[in-house]
Amino acid sequence: MFGRVPRRSNNTKYYEVLGVSSTASQDELKKAYRKAAIKSHPDKGGDPEKFKELSQAYEVLSDPEKREIYDQYGEDGLKEGMGGGGDFHNPFDIFEQFFGGGSFGGSRSRVRRQKRGEDVVHSLKVSLEDVYNGATKKLSLSRNVLCSKCKGKGTKSGAPGTCYGCHGIGMKTITRQIGLGMIQQMNTVCPECTGSGEIIRERDRCPSCRANKVVQEKKVLEVHIEKGMQHGQKIVFQGEADEAPDTVTGDIVFILQVKEHPRFKRKYDDLFIEHTVSLTEALCGFQFILTHLDGRQLLIKSNPGEIIKPGQHKAINDEGVPQYGRPFMKGRLFVEFNVEFPESGTLSPDQCRALEKVLPQLPRGRLSDMEVDQCEETIMHDVNIEEEMRRRKYQRQREAYEDVDEDEDAGPRVQCAQQ
Ligand SMILES: [Zn+2]
Ligand SMILES: [Zn+2]
Repeated sequence: MFGRVPRRSNNTKYYEVLGVSSTASQDELKKAYRKAAIKSHPDKGGDPEKFKELSQAYEVLSDPEKREIYDQYGEDGLKEGMGGGGDFHNPFDIFEQFFGGGSFGGSRSRVRRQKRGEDVVHSLKVSLEDVYNGATKKLSLSRNVLCSKCKGKGTKSGAPGTCYGCHGIGMKTITRQIGLGMIQQMNTVCPECTGSGEIIRERDRCPSCRANKVVQEKKVLEVHIEKGMQHGQKIVFQGEADEAPDTVTGDIVFILQVKEHPRFKRKYDDLFIEHTVSLTEALCGFQFILTHLDGRQLLIKSNPGEIIKPGQHKAINDEGVPQYGRPFMKGRLFVEFNVEFPESGTLSPDQCRALEKVLPQLPRGRLSDMEVDQCEETIMHDVNIEEEMRRRKYQRQREAYEDVDEDEDAGPRVQCAQQ
């Protein structure tokens, strides 16, 4: 190696761009380029200009001969050395070559393919029976797929429609003279392709997709709803969303919406039902048939001598929902009991006395005539408590409105008073 000679012109820029010292080894250069290039790649939202600068810096410094020239004479020296034009390779090609993406000047698809297409999300309504038993739903969807005729190139010839103006970069360096011997270089979006890097000529358009590169396709998806799946659970079809050139196809995602069931409510793996028994059943025993979510008929009955109280819960093991992934394990079935009492006037005085003999006595016994004589008599009447509360609420709201109205109408009222 030659010793580093004193700097004569601007020959530090490339080192600065890569963020390394002027004595950096090839290994350090590689590392610096790798880190910076990934970060500034336009496909990852990086600045194209920065990306281009990086690749130029790396292209020169990674070549010992060019580096030697650059160190001595700066960029001007390179322009002479590279045939006056200062030709650099396509920054995407440098990138691809560095990361092992095929031959020089070949397709950039590998680099481009890092872009990811959007996921398509659908909600899928299912019944409680579906998640209890498992089910398969067939859904017909239409989506974009790459045109098979042109393999997503959009051209008849099969060659990519690379823009002639910018060679596919989408950016262009314009040189203009701004004075005697003064030249200004500017980078602009390529006007031919408006930055897309691609132009497909009329006569080279693929007739199948009309150069759109994609065509619509109908597809039937079979969605398997497994036993025990939950409301809101996702079922993912990887890579089944719309295809697009140079794009990793996104997923189709179904989000389960379990519809409400008229009889059963679900909480995790447990099921809940309400059941109403008569007062007689509550006291003397009951049995009833429950049709389960899989159509089985369950016989549910009280134990001998058992009395059911209003609002009481009882549970049956292993009659809940199968666990997701372990369908042989099931939750519990909870039964909440309502007790329906007989209507007023159902019992005659004789029947009441008979019941009093059977049922437990009042805790303090009957009131004495003396106690009763000393009290004021009251009359109870029937109320619908919900209706009553609604009416109260409505009344309060109206009063609140009227307060506001009074404030707003203050003007006219004053006028009235003046008349
Ligand atoms: Zn162009
Ligand atoms: Zn086509």
